[in-house]
Amino acid sequence: MAPVDVGRLADGFAGEIVRPDDPGYDAARAVWNSMIERRPALVVRPAGSDDVVAALLFAREQALVVAVRCGGHSIPGFSTCDDGIVIDLSRMRGVEVDSERRTARVRGGSLLAELDDAAQAHGLVCPVGVVSHTGVAGLTLGGGMGRLQRKLGLTIDSLLAVELVTADGRVVRASENENRELFWGMRGAGANFGIVTSFEFQLHPFDGLVTHGTVTHPIERAEELAERYRELVEDGPDELWTSFGIAVGSDARGPVASVSVLHSGSSAEAARDLAGLRALADPLEDSVESRPYLTTQRLFDAPMEWGQRFAMKSSFLASLPEALVRDWVERISRVPAGAEGGFSVWAWGRAIAAVPEEETAFTGRDAAFWAAAEIVWRDRALDDPCRSWARAAADTAAAHAAVGRYVNDVTEVGGDVVRTIYGDAKYERLVALKREWDPDNVFRLNQNIRP
Ligand SMILES: Cc1cc2nc3c(=O)[nH]c(=O)nc-3n(C[C@H](O)[C@H](O)[C@H](O)COP(=O)(O)OP(=O)(O)OC[C@H]3O[C@@H](n4cnc5c(N)ncnc54)[C@H](O)[C@@H]3O)c2cc1C
Repeated sequence: MAPVDVGRLADGFAGEIVRPDDPGYDAARAVWNSMIERRPALVVRPAGSDDVVAALLFAREQALVVAVRCGGHSIPGFSTCDDGIVIDLSRMRGVEVDSERRTARVRGGSLLAELDDAAQAHGLVCPVGVVSHTGVAGLTLGGGMGRLQRKLGLTIDSLLAVELVTADGRVVRASENENRELFWGMRGAGANFGIVTSFEFQLHPFDGLVTHGTVTHPIERAEELAERYRELVEDGPDELWTSFGIAVGSDARGPVASVSVLHSGSSAEAARDLAGLRALADPLEDSVESRPYLTTQRLFDAPMEWGQRFAMKSSFLASLPEALVRDWVERISRVPAGAEGGFSVWAWGRAIAAVPEEETAFTGRDAAFWAAAEIVWRDRALDDPCRSWARAAADTAAAHAAVGRYVNDVTEVGGDVVRTIYGDAKYERLVALKREWDPDNVFRLNQNIRP
């Protein structure tokens, strides 16, 4: 890699510039998924919007490929690159809450934990994902699933406005009233159109105490548990988030089936709504209890810590048929020894489906479930078998798939992949938007809409 002369960028740049021979380079180029190892020519950490503009214009002048990073959790590694520039927003963090308007202004490099903490300090919440070290930007620009989604919708459904640096270095705002079509595209395909330096979210009153946990049974009871799960999904209130899982971990108990829940109603309502699930005799474990929402939001931070090797494949499902559950029970036995893998299903619908499909670029609101095969491991020798397991494991679900795919999970690139994420009509609308805002495809490290 030829060294890049950063002289002109360094003049007046208030943030940090990390070059390949700097001591911090290896830490600066690391991303969450250890499968991804790239060597950018530069990692820059802007201190504010002016630095973002300077870094972007410098990259264009030097014809460097541009990667944009918030939390670094992109599973296919879109927030890093070989030989190009990584514009890493990790020095642009922070959340300001306006408790009267119930809104939050979130800087473009913030993590979910910062938004959760700041909102809860005022008895408010924004629906976000379930691992608190994930970046607000990547998660939101793709959609944003989480444990409050049936009550409050996707994260984009609480998004009021974004401020972004566009491909030609302008700072613009997009909302329902300004650059409306761009705002439509930012909600589901946002990584394609610019570098978001700040988000404005609507917050919702939330007392912060929830009933949360997992009921786990031996794998032999998977079909019975799936039946109980379908009833919960059908009959439960919007306050009830539920996920069904089949998994094998590193512990001695072997494969198990489970249902996880988060009930954000009162504890009496939760006890009533969860009685059927908890009445199934002899669970291996029942960890359902009342706890602060903020505790729940951090429970998976350690199991999903940085440094793992990870593969997944997901789809939206129109239904959760018995045959699929049987297939998963059989496939769980093929998870390579030394890895932890499984299937998880999240109930969709309710507040997600209440937003018309055409209102955002995100596609898939009409699905009944989101389902994924996921696998984590640490030993490089397992890379091929683990990736193959995830790819093959999700195949059966394809027969039951609904329209759309969740862009933040899609790891395949090329071909017609992006069309399958958005469907033909939305894809064409996104192409027109891309031609208007990024005709040279500067922002191409994403599920790319080609101009
Ligand atoms: C451990 C883990 C848990 C997860 N849990 C959930 C979950 O509960 N719900 C859910 O919906 N998803 C979840 N995801 C998926 C997650 O939403 C995506 O991986 C998301 O892209 C991560 O965002 P990030 O900012 O951390 O990633 P990054 O890798 O920093 O960025 C992801 C993409 O967004 C672009 N981008 C980043 N910052 C900006 C910006 N400021 N402006 C413009 N573009 C930007 C990047 O270029 C890249 O294309 C999870 C992923 C992991 C690894």
